[in-house]
Amino acid sequence: YAAKKLGRSRFCYFTPAMQEAAEIRLRLTNDLRHALADRQIWVAYQPIVDLATGEIRKAEALIRWEHPTRGLVNPAEFIPIAEDTGLITEIGSWVFHQVAEQVAVWRNRHSAQFQISINKSPAQFHNNSDKLGDWFEHLQRLGLPGGCIAVEITEGLLLDASNTVTEKLLAFKNAGMQTSLDDFGTGYSSLSYLNKYQIDFLKIDQAFVSGLTAHSTDMALCEAIIMLAHVLGMKVIAEGVETEVQRDLLMQAGCDYGQGYLFSKPVPAADFEKLFSSTRAD
Ligand code: C2E
Ligand code: CA
Ligand code: CA
Ligand code: CA
Repeated sequence: YAAKKLGRSRFCYFTPAMQEAAEIRLRLTNDLRHALADRQIWVAYQPIVDLATGEIRKAEALIRWEHPTRGLVNPAEFIPIAEDTGLITEIGSWVFHQVAEQVAVWRNRHSAQFQISINKSPAQFHNNSDKLGDWFEHLQRLGLPGGCIAVEITEGLLLDASNTVTEKLLAFKNAGMQTSLDDFGTGYSSLSYLNKYQIDFLKIDQAFVSGLTAHSTDMALCEAIIMLAHVLGMKVIAEGVETEVQRDLLMQAGCDYGQGYLFSKPVPAADFEKLFSSTRAD
């Protein structure tokens, strides 16, 4: 094993496995630099369904990277690389423009209130290279109100909200966009933050949904979360809904929207079109 001396007596050993992981990461990093230009990156859309009517009301945009030799690379693998290299700014801006054009089409064809949510990781809030003004202008050029976009953020962001973070969140809200708190229940949420930042949607993490049975603690938790969210004026979206039982329990708990494989996996825009006509899961 190669040993690297760190300071006087601390050694860090690189095992062959670590070496290989580092090499893969390095190669991915280089590949990611031209992935956008080479059109290897695309956006998948997953429907968000009104539980009461079964209608598709929204979609979440989820990025996909079709690597020429490695095939589909998981976002969990390449988003951190994009963040470390700063490429996330360019990718995030590209996603926003794609989504804006897509939401214009679907609002036109299917539903005037249609909304698409985009994910923004904390790293995208902490640096100041996003040209939000350009994004908002792009919406205006397309004749779209801010409300056609929701921005999904995670709990950690609200906890260490610096001035940059607060200003950006405010900029989105001022442009009429809505905000969703993603993965709710997995972090250190504080209700006061939800109120302070006027979050519009709370997304209950899949971890709670997968444990749902009629008399489980997860059911009690879901009911409590939904009730609190409603008191604070938020709508609730359940993530990772995979079964009809889960859907029914969520409805019973008062949940507003559902998202998950029961309705559809994330799919290319062309396939999403077909979902509009075949909405109900049952
Ligand atoms: P997320 O925002 O929590 O997205 C939900 C993840 O759950 C997605 O994984 C989705 O495919 C998956 N999912 C949806 N329904 C079900 C279900 O019923 N069962 C199961 N088992 N999984 C379900 P995905 O697409 O691999 O994305 C992973 C994460 O990558 C996302 O988690 C998000 O944090 C991040 N991500 C994706 N696109 C973007 C992007 O454009 N920008 C940024 N910053 N992050 C992104
Ligand atoms: Ca999300
Ligand atoms: Ca989530
Ligand atoms: Ca997540």
